[in-house]
Amino acid sequence: MFIMKFGGSSLQTPERLRETAAIVRKHQHLRPFLVLSAMGHTTEDLVDAGRSALNQRIEARIETFHRTFLSALDLSLECVDTLLSELYSLLKGISLIGELTPKTQDTLLSFGERLSVRIFSAYLNRIGLPSSHYDGWDAGILTDSQYTHAEVLPESSERIRHALGLETKIPVVTGFIGKDGQGNITTLGRGGSDLTASVLGQALGAKEIQLWKDVDGILSADPRLVPAAATLERLSFVEAAELAYFGAKVLHPTSILPAMDAKIPVRIKNHRDPSHPGTVIFEGESVKSGVIAIIYKSNQTLVHIESTRMLGQSGFLATVFQIFADLGISVDVIATSEVSISLTLSGADLNELIKRIKPFATVRTSRSKSILSLIGTATSSSRLLETVMRALNREKIDVQMISHGASKINTSLIVEDGELKRSVAVLYDAFFGGKE
Ligand code: ASP
Ligand code: MG
Repeated sequence: MFIMKFGGSSLQTPERLRETAAIVRKHQHLRPFLVLSAMGHTTEDLVDAGRSALNQRIEARIETFHRTFLSALDLSLECVDTLLSELYSLLKGISLIGELTPKTQDTLLSFGERLSVRIFSAYLNRIGLPSSHYDGWDAGILTDSQYTHAEVLPESSERIRHALGLETKIPVVTGFIGKDGQGNITTLGRGGSDLTASVLGQALGAKEIQLWKDVDGILSADPRLVPAAATLERLSFVEAAELAYFGAKVLHPTSILPAMDAKIPVRIKNHRDPSHPGTVIFEGESVKSGVIAIIYKSNQTLVHIESTRMLGQSGFLATVFQIFADLGISVDVIATSEVSISLTLSGADLNELIKRIKPFATVRTSRSKSILSLIGTATSSSRLLETVMRALNREKIDVQMISHGASKINTSLIVEDGELKRSVAVLYDAFFGGKE
């Protein structure tokens, strides 16, 4: 068996939903277990509906949207009546009490996925693919009680096997939601359906977990800057995590950890182009040596801190990092020397930072910088750095800082925002040129 998870965009219109069902039919012989997100933008709409209810307005948009599918797909109009009237009562309750706690918010958002699996499963049955729908808790997902970002408890694995192990029809399970030990509905955090897919895959020993999205997979560079950017066929988990952190928003790496623990490959697939193989992420050493992708983050601030008093290196670093921790500032790229630190950050309150550091160090900041990261395992650091420097030097692009970690998975350079486009193009050519 294997898992197919479809996101909201695969269920955005009745036409899309039909295409998604056709993809399932094609894979029927491989025993797919399905995990679904809410249809289209339903989760956002539910968030809005909660806010409106607080302002004494009950929105009909969600009901209308889902009813459109029922008529377009020729499904019984009663199929989601119970749920829709429960949703209405909940919104009414929120408007009467004038309060929306995180616990209630989770129950509210759960309606998206619950509506989605009922409609999709009914449609599969109608077109002759026997299927049954499951709410997360009926499929065995047990969580703690951290509403809006609950964690799946390890006991879930056994419960999932018990709930789904003998299912002979195609199970269609809600992503994103579960219940805690007291039976309260919880959600796993926005985008949590990928995590549900991983958890189910791990519990059931899936051969593969497919996450169907609206992109071909993970690309070697931003196609807006590098038209020749290509889909990466295979990627180790560590590489995928680096890519996700620095901008490739296809996947949240923690959501596939359960799959990686169980050594189950996760494949990103494009529902607009089902025959494309997509990108496979696997646990283990990377298969390719050399740079596999170039990514960036622009609009960063470069901060240079120089110790004025001799705090001693460890005291100096500890003091500076304590200030970052106190201010909740997260640093991306960093380079240190005995008495100075250069680092990049974005969106931090610089005035407060400068005020706290001034007593023992001078601070210089400059904005409009870009972090450009080369991802991949370099066999030789000196060769990699030589290629970078030679390429940039030829174009007279000034590198303001560089960080090359011991893991050699990520080499980051800082350049001016204005030189980003050129830098990416030049480096892409240096590492990928002629390799098409
Ligand atoms: N529907 C939820 C969200 O939009 C979960 C998901 O799509 O993964 O965040
Ligand atoms: Mg969604």
